[in-house]
Amino acid sequence: MAQHFLLSAAAKSLSLASVFTMKDEQAETTFRRVRWADTNGEPVCPHCGGVDAYDCRRLKGAPRFRCRACVKDFTITSGTLFASHKLPLRCYLAAIAIFCNEVKGKSALALSRDLNVSYKCAFVLLHKLREAMAAELKGRMIGGEGKVAEVDAGYFGGYVKPANLKNHRVDRRFYENQSHKRKAVIVIRERNGNTLPAVFRTEGQALKFIQSRIAKGTIVNADESPNWNELHSRFEMKRINHEEAYSLDGACTNWAEEFFSRMRRAEIGHHHHIAGAYLLRYAQEASWREDNRRTSNGEQVNRITMLAMRQKPSVDFSGYWQRHVNGG
Ligand SMILES: [Zn+2]
Repeated sequence: MAQHFLLSAAAKSLSLASVFTMKDEQAETTFRRVRWADTNGEPVCPHCGGVDAYDCRRLKGAPRFRCRACVKDFTITSGTLFASHKLPLRCYLAAIAIFCNEVKGKSALALSRDLNVSYKCAFVLLHKLREAMAAELKGRMIGGEGKVAEVDAGYFGGYVKPANLKNHRVDRRFYENQSHKRKAVIVIRERNGNTLPAVFRTEGQALKFIQSRIAKGTIVNADESPNWNELHSRFEMKRINHEEAYSLDGACTNWAEEFFSRMRRAEIGHHHHIAGAYLLRYAQEASWREDNRRTSNGEQVNRITMLAMRQKPSVDFSGYWQRHVNGG
């Protein structure tokens, strides 16, 4: 039997130990190379684009640059997802390495213990990393002429706990006894290719999205749910009835199921509750992890760092701290 990828030497190109023994300057150099790849790590002013800046470090050692053209100061992370960061850069690299090594996801509580930071700090940091991952999914099209894709849905959130005493229990199959917070995560996945998730209230509401994100000429596999019938008018379809088999005559949704397996394990094993406002981000994380499951951890860390440095300040968490202070 072939060796599992995660057991191979190729999977391990970066260790947490090496991050923690890094000097501050080494972490800075790493971030500079990723941020300013075109100039081989030489600072580029985010205000005017000037490439002539000098080191203008603060008294306590915090790295700053001053642009000779516009005389404005900036840092390595100015204008990126990690703008106004409070932790040393080494901590961010460590957080990304820990995040990548936990292939089913990392809980914010566990990360807060690993890095000795507050739960809120770990929570925001992890969501920023998810935001960076999601940047790669923007506008993604799945499939193409002769390619095979799979569509499937999974439901998350809205769990109603049964009452302790039998007399108090309700029939949770009835609409009025449900919480109405359940949402459908829809996934489109190309076999041997990329994944694209989205969140809707129902499977039916996802049809337009699915049609717009699968390229013409793709052969689409789906299960027996009548919600997918409408896709027949647009794509060559293969349906699989899971009551009869999981895979028959080449029809299956096993690639899509693998995505849900990873997401379900993240929900049950790490996060316990991934419904609500951040459900899409968790789905995007699971999708990124699926697509990069055969990439070494060093490359994954590089990729996420690069995505974070190319990403503008967080859309999800801009002003998050202030909002919290104001009680909003
Ligand atoms: Zn400038």
